[in-house]
Amino acid sequence: MSLAVPYPWQARFAAEWLARRESWPHALLLHGPAGFGKRALAGFLVQGCLCEAPQADAVPCGICPSCHWLREGLHPDLRWIEPVVAEDEGETKVRPEIIRIEQIRELADFVMLSAHRRGRKAVVIAPAEAMNTAAANALLKTLEEPPPGTLLLLVSDRPGRLPATVLSRCTKLAAPRPDAEASLAWLRHEGCSAADALLAQAGGAPLRARELGDATYQAERSAFLAQLAAPARLSAIALGARLDACPKPERKVLLGQWLDLLASWSFDLASLASGGAVRYHPDFAEAAAALAARLAPLPLIRYHRGVLLHKRLIGHPLTPRLVAEQALQAYREAIVSGAAG
Ligand SMILES: [Zn+2]
Repeated sequence: MSLAVPYPWQARFAAEWLARRESWPHALLLHGPAGFGKRALAGFLVQGCLCEAPQADAVPCGICPSCHWLREGLHPDLRWIEPVVAEDEGETKVRPEIIRIEQIRELADFVMLSAHRRGRKAVVIAPAEAMNTAAANALLKTLEEPPPGTLLLLVSDRPGRLPATVLSRCTKLAAPRPDAEASLAWLRHEGCSAADALLAQAGGAPLRARELGDATYQAERSAFLAQLAAPARLSAIALGARLDACPKPERKVLLGQWLDLLASWSFDLASLASGGAVRYHPDFAEAAAALAARLAPLPLIRYHRGVLLHKRLIGHPLTPRLVAEQALQAYREAIVSGAAG
């Protein structure tokens, strides 16, 4: 028996790397855009490293004690470092998710202690760009000279945000990505109808496309895009009030969805206004084209960049309603100045 690779487009990559797992560099950086299964692949590679009865093709067996512990999330020779959300006094001061120096300091002890099984140890840090500066600095020593048999695997959507000192100590691996045809085949196999439309909405990322297939999300998306397509009638205040009427945990999710849609929709408008085609919302192409026909691209491009930057910076907004109203107001202004330009 052996385990299957998490996603079919990772099969060749995983086989090649697992075949030479005894000679891996001690620090790897698995990087690439979100939505292609990097974390699952990292888990599979680590399992291939720690499995006690790897198969002829170096694929993990799935049944040895190590594989069992990994499945339960209890392997004594693996540390999986993820961001934590700091919540001070209930929900009043939620700060962005980051990987803290304490988490990295604990690692130093972990890698120094001898391994429980077979002498191998693994550390996964995902997403690595969530490390704050102090955490990244604390990692340098471990990255430089880890004890033999230790594998450090960093996973990142945005390796450009890692300090140069960390980057230079890692061997970079571009995570495998399927072409559109393979993505569509996988989505159909997963039971997604309208795979083409979902893949476009997800900017080509298959795992994201599968998530977007959710019927509630699709209804929300259609309603929101219909509002964006008629900016003269768009009411930032009314939408802000709608956001406030949601239960608190859903509010942030909905805000995130709106900002993503504002970013992708303004990209489509900017693309059309520059003589290009829609990328994300082909089902709204007609409405987008009607709007873009009288717009100059520059304010839209600026707005698109602004939304992306804003979304990255806000993390956990204290006032989702205010963020939404500002983003929608700025959208209307971008349309107005695009029409004037
Ligand atoms: Zn195993």
